[in-house]
Amino acid sequence: MRPMSIDDRYPNLHVSRHPLVAHKLSLLRDTRTDPKQFRELVRELSWLIGYEAMADLTTQPRSIETPLEAMEGARVEPKVGLVPVLRAGLGMVEAVLELMPSAEVWHIGLYRDERTLKPVEYYNKLPDAATVQVCLILDPMLATGGSSAATVDILKAWGAARIKQVSLIAAPEGIATLSSAHADVDIHVAAVDRELNERGYIVPGLGDAGDRQFGTFAGPASEPGHAHDETAEIVRRLQRNLQNP
Ligand code: URA
Repeated sequence: MRPMSIDDRYPNLHVSRHPLVAHKLSLLRDTRTDPKQFRELVRELSWLIGYEAMADLTTQPRSIETPLEAMEGARVEPKVGLVPVLRAGLGMVEAVLELMPSAEVWHIGLYRDERTLKPVEYYNKLPDAATVQVCLILDPMLATGGSSAATVDILKAWGAARIKQVSLIAAPEGIATLSSAHADVDIHVAAVDRELNERGYIVPGLGDAGDRQFGTFAGPASEPGHAHDETAEIVRRLQRNLQNP
């Protein structure tokens, strides 16, 4: 019998099978890829994964006239909101806006406390009531799942009817955290990697997606080699949850 794959375990998880995605993702991961090429690849991959994530949007019939005759066309029905997780998610916005130019972009600022790995909200200017029906959370790395689950909490309280997570690489721990908090959120990714390391990085991964896009490699928080005890303990807890859901 075929062993249970992560896709079998999480029906809300959609891992791209497209060869172009696999090719571009390998270039993205490669340590020799410089920030310019990295940004281009984030954009191209976001286009491809965003396209797959929007495959089930409903449409309404729309009467149009071609140069030859009248026909019934289609118009995408729901209003879509893009919610990039700052800062690494910013590099995904332009690509998804190309696919869906009428989408609204809403910024929610959550930073990941490097010690506790817990999300801390520092920016949220959402109006009182939801202005869109479908929200796409854009974050290249679904690592612990903490920021995503917190963003979904905020968007659900706002009144978004449907929420999807669009990422490039996910850790099994992040998929488990987000799915157990919000089983109704579809997760679209280019790949699921092996695990989180004791510093909360996805391995094999690609390093820090923000630093690699923006060329900011000198920050103390993302220096390799320093695991806080607290961070390592949280990662171990997430790994235990994954083994015994
Ligand atoms: N955020 C990143 O940028 N990279 C990781 O591996 C995990 C979280």
